[in-house]
Amino acid sequence: MPLQCARCHALYYDCVKLSCGDRFCRFCIAPSQDCVLCGADIKVRESDKETQSLVDAYIEAHSNEHTVQEVDGKAVVKTDELPVSGASKKAAFFLQQGLRAFAGGNHPSALTRLSLCKEELLKNVAEGGYNTELCCQLGAVCGSQGDCCRYLGQPDAAASCYQESVRHLKESGETNLEVAHALSVSLNKLGDLQHWCGDLAAARTYYAEGLQVRRDAVGSAAAGDESLASLKLDLAVSLTKVADAEQALDKQDAAHKLFKEALELVVSIKDAMVEAPPASHAKWEQLHRLLGEATA
Ligand SMILES: [Zn+2]
Ligand SMILES: [Zn+2]
Repeated sequence: MPLQCARCHALYYDCVKLSCGDRFCRFCIAPSQDCVLCGADIKVRESDKETQSLVDAYIEAHSNEHTVQEVDGKAVVKTDELPVSGASKKAAFFLQQGLRAFAGGNHPSALTRLSLCKEELLKNVAEGGYNTELCCQLGAVCGSQGDCCRYLGQPDAAASCYQESVRHLKESGETNLEVAHALSVSLNKLGDLQHWCGDLAAARTYYAEGLQVRRDAVGSAAAGDESLASLKLDLAVSLTKVADAEQALDKQDAAHKLFKEALELVVSIKDAMVEAPPASHAKWEQLHRLLGEATA
């Protein structure tokens, strides 16, 4: 497609035209000395307002084609049409563009498109109030914005995005597993940020809140529930996160107790792992090995 950047594969964002005539997003070509398409030296990068306005017109015209969904704590676009109860199709289009830019490494572009997506979702909230679906979508979009900020080296902005994600997810008021999973993911990301910034006590608080959400999720799942093994695997991951923080805070007894609980949990789902997808299996084995070392 002519309006698509060859670098990030998303629609141009702040389009520039190089001396050779090729076009890119400004961010995408910023680190390069030569054009990545034709190899010519880059002498000039001039704003291409004309092409950018074509992109904006394209966005306006094509923003009614898809539906937003939340899968595994991440916002995704669904292309087969189902009745849309929460999100507008415009929100889904912006989300698709945002996720494409994100995958292509253009985080400023992704951030802008995701903001537009969020605006559309919030319009839905303003019109009809929160519902579980909207909470999940807003939680996932804000979470993806947080990921963008993290890549851009903006930990404070990332933290406020993850906090906003948590806020939307808590609006749901319903304790379904989808909400619980997304909520615990955002809480863990907040914990990771604090850990990275060196505030271990704050990290521990977020991890512990995420842990409680996952404990409740396991508690609420029925005994024969096929998702129980993966819920327990997530719970073990959360236990490990809190245990790591406790250990770093020099609370060895508390850490050991949590590591032990996590190991018991991981061992208890060994048989269920046979039928689990390969990714969970790899996660299980890695966790089993780590916990074996931690509790030895
Ligand atoms: Zn680009
Ligand atoms: Zn070129």
